[in-house]
Amino acid sequence: MAADTRTELALLAYGDVVAGCTDCTLAKTRTQVVFGVGSPIADLMFVGEAPGFHEDKQGIPFVGAAGQLLTKLLAGVGLAREEVYIANVLKCRPPGNRDPLPDEIEACERHLFKQIELIRPKVVATLGNFATKLLSGKPAGITRVHGQEQEVVLGGQRVLLYPLFHPAAALYTPRMLEVLEADFRRVPELLGRETAPVAPPEPEPARSVEQPVQLGLF
Ligand code: URA
Repeated sequence: MAADTRTELALLAYGDVVAGCTDCTLAKTRTQVVFGVGSPIADLMFVGEAPGFHEDKQGIPFVGAAGQLLTKLLAGVGLAREEVYIANVLKCRPPGNRDPLPDEIEACERHLFKQIELIRPKVVATLGNFATKLLSGKPAGITRVHGQEQEVVLGGQRVLLYPLFHPAAALYTPRMLEVLEADFRRVPELLGRETAPVAPPEPEPARSVEQPVQLGLF
């Protein structure tokens, strides 16, 4: 079986498992789990915050106004939605689109890391503060770090993490949209970069077997 078919099947199977997730209280208020959409062998993956009203209804991430902007930004660099993978930090909609809570992120993050492990993207573009802080492992906010790529290891893969402003924020702030567009223009260059594979762990140095000390009785 071809490697991309294997990945697609593994992702589908994992999505089926996550569809029944009850690991946090969002399971009680969601319409459905919004797992992710796009190419299972994408070089470029986007990670947003959480599904909103439309995403919760349709089961697909970024289908509302922010999603339309994301699709337009992608087209601007010659990419179609079908060529990338789009997911969120949280797979279920927080009621009223409130911010994700720390315990919800903690309960859900393993699904995102598994998606990254299966898809093995070259570049992971984080949209907004929640995805950026989770995947960089650092508290620095998006205003400070947007447009600054960094190599990180996620899901056992070395990837280029590329923080971007969230399209929903850019929709209402023209200056932020300009910055997002400028940062987006660098995506093709980042996709063309070589990232070294993660080196296998160093073998443990051979330890000499300690000989039990012989007590000299005589
Ligand atoms: N905002 C997000 O962060 N994710 C979506 O899927 C939609 C809007």
